Amino acid sequence: MLHKNFTNVDKVVYGRGAYAQLDSILEPKRAENDGFMLFVIDKYFEGKKFSVPSKSGDVVLFVDIDEHEPTTEQIDAIRDEVLQNNGLPAGVIGIGGGSIMDVAKAVSLMFTNEGSSQLYQGLNLIKKKGIYHVGVPTVSGTGAECSTTAVLTGPEKKLGLKCEWTPFNQIVLDPELIKEVPTNQWFYTGMDTYIHCIESESGIYKNTFSTAYANASLDLCRDVFINEGAGQSAENDEKLMVASLMGGLSLTYSEVGACHAMSYGLSVVFGTKHGYANCLAFNHLEEFYGDAVGEFKEMVQQHNIDLPQNLSKNWTEEQITQMAEVSYKLEHMWNHALGLDWKNKIDLEGMKALFRRL
Ligand code: NAD
Ligand code: ZN
Repeated sequence: MLHKNFTNVDKVVYGRGAYAQLDSILEPKRAENDGFMLFVIDKYFEGKKFSVPSKSGDVVLFVDIDEHEPTTEQIDAIRDEVLQNNGLPAGVIGIGGGSIMDVAKAVSLMFTNEGSSQLYQGLNLIKKKGIYHVGVPTVSGTGAECSTTAVLTGPEKKLGLKCEWTPFNQIVLDPELIKEVPTNQWFYTGMDTYIHCIESESGIYKNTFSTAYANASLDLCRDVFINEGAGQSAENDEKLMVASLMGGLSLTYSEVGACHAMSYGLSVVFGTKHGYANCLAFNHLEEFYGDAVGEFKEMVQQHNIDLPQNLSKNWTEEQITQMAEVSYKLEHMWNHALGLDWKNKIDLEGMKALFRRL
């Protein structure tokens, strides 16, 4: 068996107020290429009291990620516009949730690889190392700050740019930045890391490396979401930020499973956001994830989270089939969840039945 040999993030700074160090972190890199920095920032921060350490000549783009998850078209447009108007940046800094993490990682790669990002959706298709890139997460849970992929939706597929140069050169983890995330969003994205860990632990690819990170992350998640003192607080923001990182590292060395396979179906067919889609599916997967589903339901209740039921009543047979087909193609996830003989255990009809539960 060939073991994974993954690129980790080069440098990590963590702690309350760490964001103030961003300026001095960027300083030694500023002279590279055409000598300016590109900031891609979640539109949420536009007009807010939020200081960006930009200098004269830098480009600051506020990116709207609410209408859809990052697309290949959006990445190509950012790259083309900046190259045409300003040149090649010394680096790109992404400030935002998982969506912006993916935008920054993808844009970094596309500055040095020709043509559309559509051409590179998949494993190791990128030809050249990207430019210096920094991630500053402002929502915690996706693990996109440390993962080896930049997930993009293209005209044909939702698939990441996954290669050894995708991970950030630097991440800045400042728990202060996530304190105002609205409760539902805090929960949906936070559950992404909880589910990463439960899935990473429930399948054939689990191993000592992935288990150690999953256990540490789950302990933190339980403090944040269910143990005494659960809820949004300064202490729990510190915990959730570390839980997200460790959940990402756990799944990097294992795999996600049935819940993520279904979640991708929902995202492709209805554009449902990743964390929310995971929650919709996880709620009904007792036979895969046992007691964890009960624990999840308790957490939903405890925090009064919106999680609608009976959605499938309004879905057409065609939509259900389409979602099941998207899921069925995610072979690596089903391999992990059910074993290499998974096709003997579940077929397309079985997957359609899973979607009908939602
Ligand atoms: P998000 O980035 O989509 O943001 C969710 C919402 O929170 C947006 O409305 C945003 O404007 C807002 N927001 C951001 N920061 C805020 C703050 N500090 N305070 C208040 N609101 C804030 O959410 P997410 O769940 O972090 O990311 C989901 C995305 O991550 C999806 O596109 C998914 O495909 C991707 N993802 C990537 C990976 C990976 O490994 N690359 C893994 C999981 C998910
Ligand atoms: Zn996820």
